[in-house]
Amino acid sequence: MDFNDIIGHNRAIDALKTSIQNDSISHSYLFQGEEGIGKKMVAYAFSKTLLCKEQGQEPCNICSSCKKFDSGNHPDFFFIQPERGQIRVDEIDGLIEEIATFPFESKRKIFVIDDSHLMNLTSKNKLLKTLEEPPKYVNIILISSNPDSLLPTITSRVQRLKFHPADIHRVSELLVDRYDISQDKADFIGGFTNGSIGKAVKLSMDDGFDSRRDELMKIIESLVSGDRTKAFSAMDFFNKNKENIDEILDLMLYWFRDIVIYKEMGESSLIVNRDKLENLSIQSHMEFRKINDIIEKIDETRFNIKRNINYQLSIETMLLNI
Ligand SMILES: [Zn+2]
Repeated sequence: MDFNDIIGHNRAIDALKTSIQNDSISHSYLFQGEEGIGKKMVAYAFSKTLLCKEQGQEPCNICSSCKKFDSGNHPDFFFIQPERGQIRVDEIDGLIEEIATFPFESKRKIFVIDDSHLMNLTSKNKLLKTLEEPPKYVNIILISSNPDSLLPTITSRVQRLKFHPADIHRVSELLVDRYDISQDKADFIGGFTNGSIGKAVKLSMDDGFDSRRDELMKIIESLVSGDRTKAFSAMDFFNKNKENIDEILDLMLYWFRDIVIYKEMGESSLIVNRDKLENLSIQSHMEFRKINDIIEKIDETRFNIKRNINYQLSIETMLLNI
């Protein structure tokens, strides 16, 4: 892979390429931006470029370094990521030890720390020492969707690059071209994931997503049409899909938000569920106040579940309010 495989992020990529050209590559970077928008892809492409024997602004894809990088066996490339929600301190110890020795294959050693905000304070402080004066052959790339939880002393020592979600149309284009997804579905997923390529690709590959969405739509339909008994039988669906609750609540939010847009503007391009305009139209008899109540309830439910308040009770309360 290289920069050509990345959709969007032209500004960040140009900045990195320019720094290669001007020989002003920073010893450490912070790639910050929402989850799943491609920060890691750019970090990989940039690392591969820096390690490449040709020393150009793109990896040559031919040299032994590029070949080793692609096979995942580059001796000078280190990728650290959290395990069970935390980056282990011994991973950072390992990094510090590794930094002390010269590169093996290339002219540099590159360390990427994904979700770097998940280091504990000990790790952050250890890393800080390293960032103060790393050897010339070392480059460190921190990736984070939550840079505010890194120490200010860390963020002030690194060059920050901000990443933004890609244009939604480009995401759906990519899904159609490369993942063989129908245009309707690609448009929906593009809008639903709000330009987050990582999430969009993951959903496109997820076999269960369509059926979860269909089942949820049926539940909402019966609730909105006044079938109260459905609230209790729907509980099976929510229990079965406890792991996907965030996605399901998002689907619900987008659905009711779309009803609001439909009521106000008709078939607007702002509607995410454009493949289900007919259902939106049927349910648009709901009053604005009612829809807003539901949207508030969905947010509240998400908040309660995050705080470990009884799952069953939170969901039932929400469903009874629809
Ligand atoms: Zn190369």
